[in-house]
Amino acid sequence: MTTAIAHCSFCRKPSTEVRKLVAGPGVFICDGCVTLAAEVVTGDPGPDSPVLPWDLDLPLDAVLANLTTVAAAGAQAERNLRLWVGKARALGGTWTQIGEALGMTRQSAWERFSGED
Ligand SMILES: [Zn+2]
Repeated sequence: MTTAIAHCSFCRKPSTEVRKLVAGPGVFICDGCVTLAAEVVTGDPGPDSPVLPWDLDLPLDAVLANLTTVAAAGAQAERNLRLWVGKARALGGTWTQIGEALGMTRQSAWERFSGED
């Protein structure tokens, strides 16, 4: 059995259950979601002003289910960020450089990512 390396940030399917998983900056999208997104993009243009997902008229159970999905996608993005910071450190990047890249101080970068107290 293969271990999932990541989950689609849109549908949460693991890499082991999709044909392809495309990586973005801290996010992933599977072939099924790409197909669905392409249909949305090429389909009916929809309303003039886009409706934000949290402004949709959804029942509580759908909103609660979405909380789980958003939190899982956020946690995956955080793990991905930590891997990139680790890679920067392995390549000799300083906490000052990492902090600058993340728009935070050297101290904040160290506190968040070093794993030291
Ligand atoms: Zn997907």
